[in-house]
Amino acid sequence: MQAELKLFQKLSEKLLYHEKQEGVVKPIDADRLLDVLDLELNSQGLDREPLESLLEEVVLSTPRTSTKLFFNQLFGGRNPKGTLGELLAVMLNTSMYTYKVGGPQVGIEKVIINKVCEMLNFGKNADGTFPPGGSMSNFMAMLMARDAYNRDIKFEGVSDKMIIYTSQASHYSITKNAMFGGIGIEQIRKIETDTHGKMHPEALEEQIERDIKMGLKPFFVNATAGTTVLGAFDDINAIHEITKNYKNLWLHVDGAYCGSVMFSDTYKHLIEGVEKADSFCFNAHKMLNIPLSCSILITKEKYNLKHSFACEADYLYQTDDDDYNLGKTSLQCGRRNDALKFWTLWKSIGTTGLEKMVDQQFKLAETARDYIQNHPDYELYSYEDSISVCFNYKNIDPRDLCNSLYEDGKLMVGYGEFQGKTFVRLVAINSNNQVEDIMNFFKIMEAYVEDKVLELVTT
Ligand SMILES: *Cc1c(COP(=O)(O)O)cnc(C)c1O
Repeated sequence: MQAELKLFQKLSEKLLYHEKQEGVVKPIDADRLLDVLDLELNSQGLDREPLESLLEEVVLSTPRTSTKLFFNQLFGGRNPKGTLGELLAVMLNTSMYTYKVGGPQVGIEKVIINKVCEMLNFGKNADGTFPPGGSMSNFMAMLMARDAYNRDIKFEGVSDKMIIYTSQASHYSITKNAMFGGIGIEQIRKIETDTHGKMHPEALEEQIERDIKMGLKPFFVNATAGTTVLGAFDDINAIHEITKNYKNLWLHVDGAYCGSVMFSDTYKHLIEGVEKADSFCFNAHKMLNIPLSCSILITKEKYNLKHSFACEADYLYQTDDDDYNLGKTSLQCGRRNDALKFWTLWKSIGTTGLEKMVDQQFKLAETARDYIQNHPDYELYSYEDSISVCFNYKNIDPRDLCNSLYEDGKLMVGYGEFQGKTFVRLVAINSNNQVEDIMNFFKIMEAYVEDKVLELVTT
């Protein structure tokens, strides 16, 4: 193992060097990948030296999501303390289902969950878990809602037409989860949004009433804290004013993208009313820059987690109180340790350090919006209180612009669509970035357009 640790150190330092020198990397065409890199598996293994150089090649030709030039998705940057925790978790190779196997790691996970429940005023019966990502957090919430609606569904299966409500701007995992959960895509009501991307509460109420009149069974409302494209926050209080009038209508808040505003005194008002929800999730691998993946789901009544996810297994649960056997409240059996990396960061910088990260992202987004609004060649499509900055430049087709920047290895940024408009979406989520890094983004993009103007398609 010593040799591998040394090699790890060497390859990591090379990566850091190249990230700094080059930023993002020129992509390899997918259909040429196997010609360029020796990825095929053979009956004979590779010796140390050729293996080392192959690993180096693979590492250095992989897209660089941690650099200052990556603005493509809702994660980015490399948080050193989070990375340290992740590396230790890999060395420990814990499985988080029992206290017998997890020991203090179980305590670490419980401390985080309890702290999050406490910060959000979820009450003394609250509990939670670390699902494998935001989509699965939403899935677990939906399953708890389904089983809370009818306690026998886990024995008998779904027979009613059970209805899900979510906004048109919400994440596609809601659709996928309706497929997985036996609910069916046709039972999803995509509620319209206003021009800022927030769900219309009146439209939600009207739809629920229509469905009840038809004899259908509303059971799950999903509000979004940070929509995937615009970064909009649904009004949780207004939505709760409606859901509270119906028996067994679960309110979940999908904060996968921006639920981490809970750590900021300045921005936590964006999820005001969250304590009225039945469940809430956020991805620490998004706004808190923890390595992928790190998602936390909490719910008001621990009973619901147990009812939907506990199964007896004599070969597994042999010691300790179930409160410490986390497999009783999780989706999977063997489960990786996603808690240690978050705890390492939180412990090292404190809650005020997490707050600074969140505030920095909003500051970077504001910098970008100010720049765009003060330059006539730009059109802005997103709003305040969002870390997604959506714009177009000189009427250039955003798809063509983003794809060309990627293919030429200049920048990684993606495009999005809202209410029929397509635009570049700059995500200010890397809190290691500074104001000058945002300015640098515009400088690189503008110079690139200047250079390529005749080749780029305009709209
Ligand atoms: C990213 C995201 C998800 C999905 O999270 P994963 O960890 O990628 O599965 C769900 N909802 C919203 C709003 C998101 O932005």
